[in-house]
Amino acid sequence: MHELSICQDLMSAIAEAAHRHGARRVVGVHLRIGRLAGVVPELLEEAFVLASRDTVADGAALRIEPVELAVRCGDCGGRLTLDEPVFICPACGSRDLHVVGGRELELTSIEVDEDGADDATP
Ligand SMILES: [Zn+2]
Repeated sequence: MHELSICQDLMSAIAEAAHRHGARRVVGVHLRIGRLAGVVPELLEEAFVLASRDTVADGAALRIEPVELAVRCGDCGGRLTLDEPVFICPACGSRDLHVVGGRELELTSIEVDEDGADDATP
């Protein structure tokens, strides 16, 4: 499954970020996913549950921010977002469109449990 290998890469980025923050537990993971990233959010969520099992992010909530497909027209210079991947400029009818956004697959932030898993309060 494509989404599972993405999640495995993601897990190493999450583990690294958690380590940088000195966090023992990650409770939330924020992602930006472009419409053209080729990822199905529902499948990604399922894969995330599998990939995060027994890791620092076990049970963390996945929050996905979709990124619109954005293009720049090579003829009129217009920049627009497309609801559908139909590559025709609505302003001038040109097909010379360049994708400038929508391929993102980024880990934007993580939420950590400050108290950690242990109850260290005296
Ligand atoms: Zn145009």
